[in-house]
Amino acid sequence: MDGPVIGIDLGTTFSAVASVEAKRPYIIPNRTGERLTPSLVGFTPTGERVVGERARLLAEEYPESVAFATKRFIGRRWSSDLAASARAVVPYPLVSGPSGEIRIRLAGKVLPITQVSAMVLGELKLDAEAHFKRPVSQAVVTVPANFDDGQRNATKEAARIAGLEVLRIVNEPTAAAVAYGLSSSFQGRALVFDLGGGTFDVSILEVEKGVFQVKATGGDPYLGGEDFDERIVQWLVAQVPETFRDVVSHDKLSMQRLKVAAERAKRELSEVEEAAISVAELGDHTATHRRYVELNTALTRTFFEALSEPLSRRCLNVCEKVMADAELEPRSMDVVLLVGGMTRVPLVRRLVSDFFGKQAAAGVNPDEVVALGAAVHASELSGRSGAALLIDVTAHSLGVGVLGGKVRRLIGRNTPVPVAAREIFFPGRAGQTEARIPVYQGESDSAEASVKLGEVVLHDLTVGKRTDVPIEVCFELSSEGTLSVRAMDLSTGLAEATRIEARTELSQPEVEKLREEQQEYARSESEKLTDSVADVLSDLLQRARKLAQNLEVGARENPGPEADATVARVQSLIEAAEQAAREKDLGAMAEVTRTLEGLVGKRKLSRSGN
Ligand code: AMP
Repeated sequence: MDGPVIGIDLGTTFSAVASVEAKRPYIIPNRTGERLTPSLVGFTPTGERVVGERARLLAEEYPESVAFATKRFIGRRWSSDLAASARAVVPYPLVSGPSGEIRIRLAGKVLPITQVSAMVLGELKLDAEAHFKRPVSQAVVTVPANFDDGQRNATKEAARIAGLEVLRIVNEPTAAAVAYGLSSSFQGRALVFDLGGGTFDVSILEVEKGVFQVKATGGDPYLGGEDFDERIVQWLVAQVPETFRDVVSHDKLSMQRLKVAAERAKRELSEVEEAAISVAELGDHTATHRRYVELNTALTRTFFEALSEPLSRRCLNVCEKVMADAELEPRSMDVVLLVGGMTRVPLVRRLVSDFFGKQAAAGVNPDEVVALGAAVHASELSGRSGAALLIDVTAHSLGVGVLGGKVRRLIGRNTPVPVAAREIFFPGRAGQTEARIPVYQGESDSAEASVKLGEVVLHDLTVGKRTDVPIEVCFELSSEGTLSVRAMDLSTGLAEATRIEARTELSQPEVEKLREEQQEYARSESEKLTDSVADVLSDLLQRARKLAQNLEVGARENPGPEADATVARVQSLIEAAEQAAREKDLGAMAEVTRTLEGLVGKRKLSRSGN
C-alpha cells in the first residue's frame, strides 16, 4: 500500500509541508500547530537538537547555537571569498569539507550544510507522519528557479539523509503557479515575483491547459527579507548612544535582539504606518561587570521605505533583466503572482504593480502557495490526481571547454527541459590518447568566467591524426535540472559517462551515517509522540473501564439485548485500545483514542443530563 505523498517548500527562513486530499491541497500544521516552520536548527547547551520554533526560541538566548538561512550555501563550493562574504550575513563560520563542500561550525560541532537542511526536512517529515499517523517517505521538494545543478543535487542529498525519496525537484515559482492554476483555472502568461527571506526569484510562465511552461527565470540569490531587516538593524545601531555603539555591534546577543526587533517592526509596518521599537539590555553580555543600555525608538513606513531604497532598486533591476531576456514588455503579463512573506510589504506590492502595470492576483497566500503547489504536483506524480505536466527551462547555459580557453555552448539558457544536445569535437593534439572534456555552466564564452561543473575523461582514444578521432559529446538535462554528460570516441564506440551530480557531495559512508543519525532522532521523536498519545489513551482507558463496570451493573439490573450489546461494544473497544497500547501502534492508538473520547465524552454528557 502506498503511503501519503507530500509537497515541501524548503524556504530560507520558513518551510512548509502540504498534502492533497479530495483533490484539494492543504497545509499540514506542524506538531505545535503552526502552518509554517522556521528553517532553523540549533543545539541546546546540553547538546539536544532543536528545530523550527524551538530553535527560534533558543536563538533569543543563544544566537551562536542556532543556524539560520543555510539555504544560501547549500550545494555551493567553499571558497575563502564566500566564507568572508558570509561573515557579514550569518554568525556561524563556514568551513570547507573534504570535497570542498560547505560545512558550518555550530555549538562545538561541524555540520555539512546538507545535514542542516536534512534536519529541517526531517522535522517536516515527522510533522507529516504525526498528521497521517503513518510513515511518509515520498515528497516533491521545491528550490529557487535559479538553483544550479549542484544546489539541486545537494537538496536531494538532504532529502535522502532525511529519509525522503524525492519524486521531483520543482522550481518554487512553478509550484506557486500550479497551486494558483488549480484554484482559478488560469490560462495565459503569469509573472511570479518571489521575494522570500533570503532569495529573490522572478519567473515568467506560460500556462495553458494545465501545462506550466517556465519561459524565463532570473533572480538574486542574495536578496531577501533578511537584507531589509539588516537595513533596519544598522539604523538601530546608529541610534545606540556612542559610548555603547561599538560594544553593542560586536555583541552577538545584542545584535540578535536588534534583529528580532527589526523583523517584528518590518512585519508591523505591513499593517500600520508606524512601529514602536523597544530593545532592552544592549551591551556586552560576556563582560563580568555588565552595563546595559535600552533603545526606544519608532520607525515609520515612509522611513522604512527610504531605508529600503537600494534593495527596491535591486528588485527592479532583476525584473528588468528577466523582461529583457524574454524580450517581453512588463505590461504584457496577464497576471502577477506574489510569493514569499516579503511580498506582504506594501512597498514591494507597489513596486510590482507600478512595474507590471497591474495589481497582483489576490487569493494566493504568499507564504503557503509554494508548498501547496508542490503537494499538488506530488499527488499528480504519484498518479493520484491526473497527469503530471510540468515544463521547466534551464536557468543557466551549459557547454564544454574547447581550445583557447573558450566554452562551446550546447544548451542555452531558458531552453525547455528535459533536453538533449550533442556535438562532435576533436582532440586538441594529434596522437592524444586521453581527452578531458570540461563541462561549464554560465553565460560567458570564456572558460575563466564560467563555473566548472566537472569533467568527463575519455581514455584509450584511437591514436591518429587530429581529425581522425571524432568525439561525440552528449548532454542530457533531466526535468529536474540534473545533467548527464556522455563522451564517445566515435571511431571505436568507447564511451565514458558522468552524471554531473553535486560537485560538493558527501561521501556515501557519510551520507549513510547521517541518515542513521537522523533515523535515530526520528525514532526518539516519534517515541515521544507515541508516549504522549499513550498517556492520553491510558487516561481514557481508565475512564472507559469504569464506564464498562457501570454498564455491567446496569445490564444486570435491567437485563435486555440492548444493554448486553452496549456492554459488549464497550468491552471490545477496551480490548482494541489495550492491544494498540501494548503494540505501541500510533495509528491504532490515535483511532481508538478518538472513538473512546467520543464514547466517554458522550456518556459524561448523558450522565450530566440525568
Ligand atoms: P519566506 O522565506 O517566503 O517565508 O519569507 C519570509 C520573509 O518574509 C521574512 O523576511 C519575513 O520577515 C517576511 N515577512 C513575513 N510576513 C511578513 C509581513 N506580514 N510583513 C513583512 N514581512 C513579512
